[in-house]
Amino acid sequence: MFGAMREALQQELSGIRDAGLFKHERTIRTPQAANIRVAYPEDADPQDVLNFCANNYLGLSSHPAVIEAATNALQTHGYGMSSVRFICGTQDIHRQLERTIASFLGTDDAILYAACFDANGGVFEPLLNARDAIITDQLNHASIIDGVRLCKAKRYIFKHANMADLEQQLTQAQSARYRIIVTDGAFSMDGDIAKLDKICELAERFDALVMSDECHCTGFLGKTGRGAIEHCGVQGRVDIITGTLGKALGGASGGFTAGRQEIIDLLRQRSRPYLFSNTVAPPIVAASLKVLEILTKSTELRDKLESNTKRFREKMTAAGFDIRPGEHPIVPIMLYNAPLAQKIASDLYEKGIYVIGFFFPVVPKGEARIRVQLSAAHEFEHIDRAVQAFCEVGEQHGILHKSKDQIIAEHGE
Ligand SMILES: *Cc1c(COP(=O)(O)O)cnc(C)c1O
Repeated sequence: MFGAMREALQQELSGIRDAGLFKHERTIRTPQAANIRVAYPEDADPQDVLNFCANNYLGLSSHPAVIEAATNALQTHGYGMSSVRFICGTQDIHRQLERTIASFLGTDDAILYAACFDANGGVFEPLLNARDAIITDQLNHASIIDGVRLCKAKRYIFKHANMADLEQQLTQAQSARYRIIVTDGAFSMDGDIAKLDKICELAERFDALVMSDECHCTGFLGKTGRGAIEHCGVQGRVDIITGTLGKALGGASGGFTAGRQEIIDLLRQRSRPYLFSNTVAPPIVAASLKVLEILTKSTELRDKLESNTKRFREKMTAAGFDIRPGEHPIVPIMLYNAPLAQKIASDLYEKGIYVIGFFFPVVPKGEARIRVQLSAAHEFEHIDRAVQAFCEVGEQHGILHKSKDQIIAEHGE
């Protein structure tokens, strides 16, 4: 049978290659950090580069205290649990982590998943049915889109961050039994933060629940790192928060849903990725507890990330790059043209700066960009080296101090 399928798959793969959309993976030969050694292509000589494309926002991926906590747990709690939670997969530290996440975020309780992809995949179906309405931002993460698809509730999509459209969709959803507004807390392509204050106001006016996916928020947004909910001053008004342990909070893997007690209790009974998928490994659980302890004791890391972000954004703006304004450590440098974005990323790589170009279908056509991500693992010296490299490459390609229209006129869309 595979013979027939092979040909079709080969065709599809060459279609992806011909369109210039084939994704090649670079091999890192070091732990995740600001300074990494990368081989690309895989058999090429590895090169030392500064990493500006990890979700390692707080530099915790290779933090000595986090590694120590994971190592100790390996000895005290073992490597794996060989079970789902409800059979024999729950240790003291699993409940402890759930309670700690809840208290960190100011919610009643939390429930762990193998990944936030699973948290989002398993949150809607147990709570909502065909009588209900989900009102979801157009640019929400793929895992939210899939989670919504797995549930029978009616789906209303509102234009990205558009409160007038959200209001219109809420009006249309008034006859539903329950309504829930769902948004990413911060959006990964533009680094823009959801207007959770306005969303919560609308939710109160239209009697809706609110869910925020805080994967690109928890640990560093807001004055004490509680995320977009803190940044927007809506703690206590968001009913469901989903998040990941795989980005700022240590970067291994694992996810969670935090929120109202009855919601978490029902998810524990009915959420399919929780019931039918393995327990988060003990070393990850213990390391995550250590991460939350570090973040509860001090805001030093999120403060450092904030000043790194500010420095990079200010210097790049002054240098004449077209960057999406904002405060998030995701900094999109707009180039509009896909080959240009790719060329600039590879020129930067030659200069020891590892960044990635993003273009269609990851972002809309004509909105190609390089996405830079700052980290508390960066020192000012790293940031200045990156800006310097960007300036040299930007100068070469003649894109500094140019408007969008000028860049498009000179390089195409
Ligand atoms: C990364 C991400 C996820 C997936 O998280 P994992 O724990 O890696 O599965 C979900 N939602 C958003 C918004 C994300 O950025």
